[in-house]
Parts: sequence; C-alpha cells; structure tokens
Amino acid sequence: MFTELANYGIQKIIPDLTLISFFKENIESIIITHGHEDHIGALSWVLPIFKNKTKLFVSSFVYNIIIKRLLKNLNSRSLDISIFNANKKFQFGPFECQTFRVTHSIPDCYGFVLKSPYGNILHTGDWKMDEAPLDGEILDKELLQEISKEGVLLFFSDSTNAMSPGRTLSERNIYDSITNIITNPSISGRIITTQFASNVYRLYSIKKSSELTNRKICFLGASLNSYLEAAYLDGRAPFNPSELIEDDTDLDKYDNNSLLIVTTGSQGEPNSTLNLSSLDVSSKLSLKSSDTILYSAKIIPGNEKRVTKMLNRLSSHGCDIIYGNNKHIHTSGHAYEEELKEILKIVKPKVFIPVHGEVMSLYSHGKMALRECGVSKVAIIRNGQLLKVTRSPESSYIMTNHILGECRISNFYQFGNNLVSTYEELSINERIRISSSGVIIISIEFWKKIIDKNTDFKFYSKIKITSKGLWTDRGKLNSILKKIINGIFIKSRPVISVASLEQIIQETIAYMCFKINYQIPEICIVLNEFSK
Ligand SMILES: [Zn+2]
Repeated sequence: MFTELANYGIQKIIPDLTLISFFKENIESIIITHGHEDHIGALSWVLPIFKNKTKLFVSSFVYNIIIKRLLKNLNSRSLDISIFNANKKFQFGPFECQTFRVTHSIPDCYGFVLKSPYGNILHTGDWKMDEAPLDGEILDKELLQEISKEGVLLFFSDSTNAMSPGRTLSERNIYDSITNIITNPSISGRIITTQFASNVYRLYSIKKSSELTNRKICFLGASLNSYLEAAYLDGRAPFNPSELIEDDTDLDKYDNNSLLIVTTGSQGEPNSTLNLSSLDVSSKLSLKSSDTILYSAKIIPGNEKRVTKMLNRLSSHGCDIIYGNNKHIHTSGHAYEEELKEILKIVKPKVFIPVHGEVMSLYSHGKMALRECGVSKVAIIRNGQLLKVTRSPESSYIMTNHILGECRISNFYQFGNNLVSTYEELSINERIRISSSGVIIISIEFWKKIIDKNTDFKFYSKIKITSKGLWTDRGKLNSILKKIINGIFIKSRPVISVASLEQIIQETIAYMCFKINYQIPEICIVLNEFSK
C-alpha cells in the first residue's frame, strides 16, 4: 500500500496477513483485476502463505509488471500463474469465472463474474465509464446485460468516487487538452509534465505532442519506464521505450525547445526528481525559469501540504505551472455518481456490496443503490469483517446482514529494505513527534549527601541538556530547564525513588516546553544515582 509516512523512513505499508493465513487451506485461487500498486503490491507477502497450492490469475499486462519483482522476492518454482484475457472462462476454485473488460486509468483492466450454484457473483474491480478510451477498449456493458438477465446474486462495485456528482471526463478529452497546451506556439522552453507512473494513457498525448513539436521525450522516474515497458511487451504502449532519451543523459546539452520531460513525483514524494529539483538538489534536473510544468494528476488526500509546498518552490524558480480542474489535464479512473447508477441499474443485483473507498463513500454508494437504483439489500463491510450470504431455509430469500465475525486488522510497516514490524514496534509516533517538535535529551547524575547524621540529606546533581529541532532562544531554554531541574532536587524528599524523580522531571519539562514553545518535544531523561 502507499504510505504517507515516507518522511519518517517508512517505505511501505504491508497488509496484516493474519486473516488470510487463517483461511489459507480454503483459498484455491487469487485473481488480480489490474496492475495498480494497491492491487499487486502485497503479492510478494501474500503468495508465500499458500506454499504453491494457490493459483494466481492475471492479465498479460499485469504479468509483465509483477513477474520481475516476484522472481526477485520469491522462488520462481513456487509460482503458479495463469494469464487470462477479456471474456475468457476458466475454473476458479469451485467457481466458473468469466472476465470482462472495464475502463480505468491503467491499461488492461477487468471485472469478473463467478458462477455459483446459488447465483452469479459479480465484481467490477476498479472502473470508470469511458466511451472513447485511447486504446479503444470500452467497458463491456453487453456482457453485464447478459449476466443481469441470468440474475446477479451479489454485486461488488468500486465506490471511490461515489460522492462525486456527474460523470468522469474521458481520457480522450485529456489527450486533446494536453496536446493543445504542449503544441501551443506561445509555450517556449522545456516542458516538464508530472503524472502517475502507471497512467500509460497520458503518454499517448506526450507522444503526439513530441511529434508535433519535434521535442524528444525524457523520463525521470524509474517506475515510468517499468509501466511503459510492460505495456510495450503487451502491445499496449503508445511508443517504443527505445525512443526515450537515455536515462543518464545530460539534459543541459539539449536545446530548451527540444525537450519534453515526463516525471513522477506529482504527490511531492521526498525522493522524486521533481521534488528534489524544486529544492535544487537533483542530480538529474536543474530547473530553469523558462520551464513550464504541467501537473497532469490530482493531489491524493493527505498530500495537500507537501504538494503545495513543492508547487510553491517550482513557482519560485520562475517556472510556469499549468494546474487545475478547469485545464482538463487530468481525469479520475474511478466512476462518478451517474456512471455508478447506470451500472447498478443494468446489473440489478439482489445484494449490493460497495467496495474500494472511504467509509463515507461506501455508505453513500449503498444509499444511492437503495434509493435510486432499485436495489433492496446492501451490506457495508469493513476490512476484516466476514459476511455470511446464504439462502434462508424456507425460501430463496438471501440473508446478508450476518456479520459472522471480525478480525482486527493492523498494518505492518516496512522500514529499510527488510525490516517489517508494527506501528508501535517501529516507534512511528516517536518519529512523528521528533520530526515535528524536536527532541530534548537530559542527562542527570545525582547523589545524596548527609548534612546531619540523624535526619538531614541534601541532593547534588550534574545536569547536561542537549536539544535538537526546537527553538531554544539561543540556549536560554536549556538554562531555564536546568534551573527547574535543580529546583526539583532541592524540594524533593531524600526518600524519593529514582522512578518518581524521573516522572516529576519528565512532566515538568513537558509543561515548561509547552509554555515556552507551544510544543512538547520527545523528552529523553537519563537519570543516574551515585553514592558519595
Ligand atoms: Zn486502480
């Protein structure tokens, strides 16, 4: 899964495999609907659970994307992969499975139907309705109509944009807009576009524009090459990857008007070339004030701050930035309300389960089905919940509101190349606090000295304070904190334990830091008692 924790050293979120492991003997097959990272990213962790007893079904485009990484991460002999294409029927565990074409924001996407003795189970995968896709492969409504005539017991559909009114724009509109912008004679200098690497469709307009303006295409972002190569192997690429300028070429030797640079990093990812270039620390791209940046993506919720900061920095270099909905240079790959309704009315399921979206989108999609699409039963389930769908004993009535159980799902996080652990064990809260509020380290050596041999003791202490990442007002903060700690020792009774002293110091320092800095840093106290 994608992570918003990259700034804290967390590279990936690894799914919790507890539930799937529990059912490993019962899972005979897995189908992958398309090649987006949130659908294929967990395979290297999931497949080993099944020890070669579970078959993986993928399209040929997905196969091209996953095979290298699976061979790298897993023993190739343990892989049992079958490739399907549109409308193919095959045995999928106990079911007959039939795939059907859907449109989305990456090539070669599918939904599927599972035929069970109780009725048809239909899953859309991720989809939108695009009547004029650039590869000509439109969503297969005819097959959906056929399946609907047979009857659909259970229907799973993508809820991502269930709260977005209207319909999505076609990739054809985006192609026209991008091509018009890049070929506009008023634009001179280098053109730098940024997009999601997997959106191979955007590269059609890049190719067309490069031909019309005689610019050479350069990719900055390894994942762009991976997706283009996978598409090329499958006959789905807008151009041969060999047409690209070599990766390590010095771009400064090209005339400004002869370059069309495609980058990843639309989400302001810290190590992306676009972000590094905005900070003037990229070894591959030095920005020029004559550059035009074309932002052909959307900001994923949660990334707003860092993307805005990056765009501000790009602007500060003098670059022109083309950005915004009204420019029609990006469209979603997930269906909007009117598309969702149209499909619900075609499918007419007995039971509808909205999937793939925020919880509010799932509920919104469910209500839409009940209120406007003639669906009489909707079940909203969360990750980890088990839903029972069965006939009642006396009739063919379908029971759906039976949550059989729930497994608490907690993600795992990858730190570095190999280390995978929980949020708590990787101390992610501490990382976040240190990065936002700094850290203060207080080392104290203390001892008690007898003043009066019967009753009176006095504390003596040596205190060293080091702070990083917080405002100290030129060291004044540290002096204040030292005085406060000394005051604690003066007031403390001789019988006080080390643990109690540490707690009092911790709480007092936190209070004082908040009073002075309006933030509580991570506070580390090393307290040692000596006998003297
Ligand atoms: Zn997707």
